Amino acid sequence: MTTEIRPYWKNYIGGKWVDGSEDGRLAVTDPASGQPICEVARGTARDIDAAVAAARACFDSRALLDMPPHERGALMFRIADELDKAADEIATVECFDNGKTLANGRGEIPLTQRYLRYYGGMADKLEGRQIPLGAGLLDYTIHAPYGVSAQIVPWNGPLPVGARSIACALVTGNTVVLKSPEDSPLSLFLFAEACERAGVPAGAVNIVCGLGAEAGAALAAHDDIDHIVFTGSVETGKSVLRAAAERVIPCVMELGGKSGGIVFPDADLDQVAASAAAGIFKHAGQICSAGSRLIVHRSIYDQVVARLVARAEALSVGPGIEGCDLGPLISARQLDRVEALCRVGVEEGATLATGGTRVTGLDGFFMAPTVFTDVRPDMRIAQEEFFGPVVVVIPFDTTEEAIAIANGTDYGLAAGLYTRDLTLAHTVADRLVAGQVYVNQWWAGGVETPFGGMKRSGYGREKGQEALLGYVQTKNVGIKL
Ligand code: NAD
Repeated sequence: MTTEIRPYWKNYIGGKWVDGSEDGRLAVTDPASGQPICEVARGTARDIDAAVAAARACFDSRALLDMPPHERGALMFRIADELDKAADEIATVECFDNGKTLANGRGEIPLTQRYLRYYGGMADKLEGRQIPLGAGLLDYTIHAPYGVSAQIVPWNGPLPVGARSIACALVTGNTVVLKSPEDSPLSLFLFAEACERAGVPAGAVNIVCGLGAEAGAALAAHDDIDHIVFTGSVETGKSVLRAAAERVIPCVMELGGKSGGIVFPDADLDQVAASAAAGIFKHAGQICSAGSRLIVHRSIYDQVVARLVARAEALSVGPGIEGCDLGPLISARQLDRVEALCRVGVEEGATLATGGTRVTGLDGFFMAPTVFTDVRPDMRIAQEEFFGPVVVVIPFDTTEEAIAIANGTDYGLAAGLYTRDLTLAHTVADRLVAGQVYVNQWWAGGVETPFGGMKRSGYGREKGQEALLGYVQTKNVGIKL
């Protein structure tokens, strides 16, 4: 079932729903039609000030800190339960402000609930250490929260990406100010409503929508935040890091990728094609860990390309709400960018096996699923992130060459390989410089598996048990008995 989109949404600060302090509003556009669908309050530096003050007051009140950890965990379970009540509305807004397919929009809810329940279950299991110092001394460590965690979220998966960071922050006793993405802010407002109904203390979670250069920059540079979680592009990440350096505060950086999967000659080619197509065409390629490069042994190159092209051409392109396979890109600007980079690929000498241009005859921002062949690893299309449904297929002859190509970009978010040979799989997985390596299935892994980048893809980990350690600092207590 789908629901009506509410015409106007307010920010959630200090447990209250508020207009933008300067009365501004931002229009939200449906990328499948190019038409505005609603407005949201425009958060500016003043709203960020108010949100940080509310988060600070809540942290200082010890409302969360004095709550036994298992109760903080129970709070996550209650938020997860509350999301059920908003399931239809969340699926609808994910289609309309984000361009997801209805199936993907629906899928965001159980995924988000799993994050909440996973970290809720860990709330009372983050244990310190007792360090032996000999007779007369007792020494132990405490996982202390940072304080106010500032979180900046991209538009492509705001609900699960936002919720997993918020859950980690709350169960460890931090409070949160989250700057939601201006292009797709709606699902996080519904998340804030779930927090409110679940009884999250006022000020513990604050959600402010605003422009990146305005509200985002103001949050990253705020004097009274203690910790930053940034998910987005490398360029914005660098500016956030510069702001954090001024105040020497720690950051978790989840940035972009140009992830490559290596296909060895013994791989199951039908499985490769299915996995590679899902890896690049899901959410029209607008996923940081999309498999945007396929590095294929020359002996099977043509067979792999033929299978991939057949899958690309079989996809229906259109509004997600109509059940199409491939939805729009988020904006006209992003469509222009992806199309322009495709033109660069042709100028560089690569061949378009299919796609390469926008889809005509549709009102929204639709890009044809695209496969490039005859690609050299040094071409721009093999180095730069498209963030669109474009995969480049690069041939290789030796395993060493394949590893060098896979590792040969600035990024290190994800990598993959396809083979039936277990020894080869383990050996190559060890050599790939990426935060996660998928063998025989793109995105093998899930809520429980640590996720994050190497090299320019960032540092720190989200998901899995490791993520919690990014939200606490070790405090040591030494006692002379
Ligand atoms: P973006 O960097 O443009 O924006 C991300 C967020 O930062 C948005 O909320 C935006 O408003 C905000 N922002 C923009 N300018 C800012 C500034 N000067 N100061 C502070 N905040 C600012 O990225 P995007 O286009 O929204 O998302 C796409 C990028 O995000 C891609 O590179 C993608 O790979 C990456 N991404 C990474 C992950 C991951 O987990 N590694 C997940 C999703 C997306």
